Amino acid sequence: MATITPWEVEGIVDYDRLIQEFGMQPFSQILDKVPNPNWLMRRNIIFGHRDYERIIDAILNKKPWAVMSGFMPSGLPHFGHKMTMDEIVWHQKVGGKAFVGIADMEAHAVRGLSWEKVTKIGFEYIKSIIALGLDENAIIYFQSASNYVKDLAFELSAEVNWSELKAIYGFTSETNLAKMFVTSVQAADILHPQLKEFGGPKPVVIPVGADQDPHIRLTRDLAARISLFSMERTENGLRIRSRKGAELLDYIKSLDFEKRVYEEHVDLFGDVVEIENEVRNVEIEIGGYAFIPPSSTYHKFTTGLTGGKMSSSKPESYISLLDEPKEAVKKVMRAFTGGRISAEEQRRLGGEPEKCTIFELYSYHLIKDDAELNRIYEECKGGKLLCGKCKKMAAELVEEFLKEHQEKRNQIDGELDKYNIIARSF
Ligand code: SF4
Repeated sequence: MATITPWEVEGIVDYDRLIQEFGMQPFSQILDKVPNPNWLMRRNIIFGHRDYERIIDAILNKKPWAVMSGFMPSGLPHFGHKMTMDEIVWHQKVGGKAFVGIADMEAHAVRGLSWEKVTKIGFEYIKSIIALGLDENAIIYFQSASNYVKDLAFELSAEVNWSELKAIYGFTSETNLAKMFVTSVQAADILHPQLKEFGGPKPVVIPVGADQDPHIRLTRDLAARISLFSMERTENGLRIRSRKGAELLDYIKSLDFEKRVYEEHVDLFGDVVEIENEVRNVEIEIGGYAFIPPSSTYHKFTTGLTGGKMSSSKPESYISLLDEPKEAVKKVMRAFTGGRISAEEQRRLGGEPEKCTIFELYSYHLIKDDAELNRIYEECKGGKLLCGKCKKMAAELVEEFLKEHQEKRNQIDGELDKYNIIARSF
C-alpha cells in the first residue's frame, strides 16, 4: 500500500487506482486530441489530468493560456525534476506563457534551510531549466520575492480552515503555522498567472507528480471559493449565484442576455462560453479575481536507480543534473535492471523492461524516438539484448547529455540578466 502526500512517497504505486482515488481523469482518453503530444504523453508517463481539455482548446484556438510549475530548492536538481522542466518547456513551445516558481518559502518552512542557501540552490534549478530550453519570455520567481504571490496567499488563507488542512494533508497539532501557510503560498503560485497584472483569467496547466495532487485539489476549490460568482450549467445557459451577497447579482441582471431573475440566482440563456466570459469580465470590473480552476497533468514517479524509492540521502539512487558525467556513468552501470540471474536465463526468458530502471531512463529521458524505444523493448523481451550492453548504451547517452547540459549551464551563468528572474537580493 502506497503512502502519498506532497512530502512523502513510499511503496509501489498503482496508477489506475490513484486515478480513481484522487478523482483524476486518465490522460490516455484525451491523448488523440492533443496536437503533437510529447513523448511523456505518448508513453503514458503523464498518466492523468484534470481539465486538460481547456488547454487543448486554448492551443487549438490560439487563446491566451499559461503553464506554471515550481521546484522546492532543498536539494540539487536531478532527473526527477528534469521531467517537470521538460513539461514546462514543451508547454511554452506550444504557446503557453511560462511561470516557474522557486518554492523558497516552502524549503525554508518545511526543511528549515536558510534564505541564502535556498536562493543559491534555487538558481541551480533556474540554470537547468533554461539549459533545457526555457526562453526569455518566461517569468521566473522566488516565492519570497513575489509580492503578487505573497499577497494572494494571504487572501487565499482567509478561505482555508484548520480542519480542512488536517483532512487534506494529515497535519497534526504539532504542525507549525509556516508549514500550514505555505499551502496557501502554493495555491497562490498556481493562481497568480491569472491576476489582472498578468493578463487576467486564463486556463493554466500545472504539470506535477501525482503526489502534488492535494495542492491542486485545494487550489481548484479555492479558485471557486474566492470568486464572487459561481456558475452552474443549466439546460440552455448558466445559473449565476453570488458568493458574497445577493446584491452583487444586480451586476449580472444588467448583462445583455436573455434571463430569468430569482431571489438567490439569475439564469442566463445563450452561448455558455460567451456568458462565462461576460460574468468573469463583470467580476474583474468590480474587483474580484474570476479565477478559472487550474488544469493539471500528473506524471509517474521516478524510480530510484538502486531499485526502491529515490532518496536525496542516497546519491547513488538518482542522477543529479550537476553530477560529474563519469560519476553518473558509474551509477548507471550499477543500476537495478529487469535482467535475469544469468545471461543464459535472460536469452531464454527475456528481460523485464517494465521493472527496469535503465528502461525507465530511456523512456522518460534518453530516447525520444518511439520506434527506437520499441526496438529496445522487443529485443529485451526477446532475450536478444543483454543488460551489460544495454546499460553501456544508456551510460553513454547519460554522459553525453550531462556534458552538453552542463556546458549550456555554464554559458547561461553569464547570461542570467537576459531572463525575467524575481529574486531576493542579499
Ligand atoms: Fe533493462 Fe536493458 Fe536489461 Fe532489458 S536489457 S532488463 S531494458 S537493462
